[in-house]
Amino acid sequence: MLEVRDLRVEFHTRDGVAKAVDGVSYGVDAGETLAVLGESGSGKSVTAQAVMGILDVPPGRITGGEVVFRGRDLLKLKEDERRKVRGAEMAMIFQDALSSLNPVLSVGDQLAEMFTVHRGMSRRDARARAVELMDRVRIPAARERAGQYPHQFSGGMRQRIMIAMALALEPALIIADEPTTALDVTVQAQVMELLAELRRELGMGLILITHDLGVVADVADRIAVMYAGRIVESAPVHDVYKAPAHPYTRGLLDSVPRLDLKGRELRAIKGLPPNLTRVPPGCAFHPRCPLARDVCRTDEPPLYEVSATRGSACHFWRECLDD
Ligand code: SF4
Ligand code: MG
Repeated sequence: MLEVRDLRVEFHTRDGVAKAVDGVSYGVDAGETLAVLGESGSGKSVTAQAVMGILDVPPGRITGGEVVFRGRDLLKLKEDERRKVRGAEMAMIFQDALSSLNPVLSVGDQLAEMFTVHRGMSRRDARARAVELMDRVRIPAARERAGQYPHQFSGGMRQRIMIAMALALEPALIIADEPTTALDVTVQAQVMELLAELRRELGMGLILITHDLGVVADVADRIAVMYAGRIVESAPVHDVYKAPAHPYTRGLLDSVPRLDLKGRELRAIKGLPPNLTRVPPGCAFHPRCPLARDVCRTDEPPLYEVSATRGSACHFWRECLDD
């Protein structure tokens, strides 16, 4: 359904050119969930914004690649055609619902607007659909609460409203960028469960962007791990949990509490991700990598084929797998 090929995005900053996305390729099929994982600044959000067509220029500029969605390269569409794809065929859910929702419009009216504007429905029918949607994302007393404003809802309820907005036009693809990061842990789990359930019911594709490997285990089919603007590991989720094929993925995995490994010490990855205007030569991860050796400082690893469904951009992926 979606195939991103060799996507490149640059930002011009005072420090020089930052390659925020440096040759990223990934795909999502209908009914599939792809988790895109990485620390902040790894390029995961920028990739999604380029896919969505909301990468505001300047300073960000797409300098190469293709975003093929249902047979068309979206990067070649005119802005008005692009706008039609957005919302109707693909929709995005952001971390911060409060700044994404209109503060002076009731949530019922905001949802109803989706149907009056995009579907030409009467106000009355649109309002009825809005209440149905609120019910569907399990907002209690939906009919009464439709008249309330975003600030009158809790963080978890607002995130449900964001999900309802995204689902309104039944898009084929949803991109959720850190959808639960601002919520506390119990509410996080409920919202994630709801999103996964609706995705299943509606048969949509989902790209779930997160820095938290803990939230993807139960919902994702595949994982793409990003570091410094590139994909460093791409694999079915169970393979990754069994044995990561990249030291960075291992580092992320080791910093997540796991019930099955109770008592094991949690280790965070030492150091910080690089400044994207000065990405280290060779393997960008080498200054932080426990397996690094000389070749890593000079030779950039390609995405090696670990299996038919798995790739790793580490010269020593075999060693990492066996570790
Ligand atoms: Fe570490 Fe070298 Fe593999 Fe990069 S290529 S992840 S530095 S072992
Ligand atoms: Mg982000």
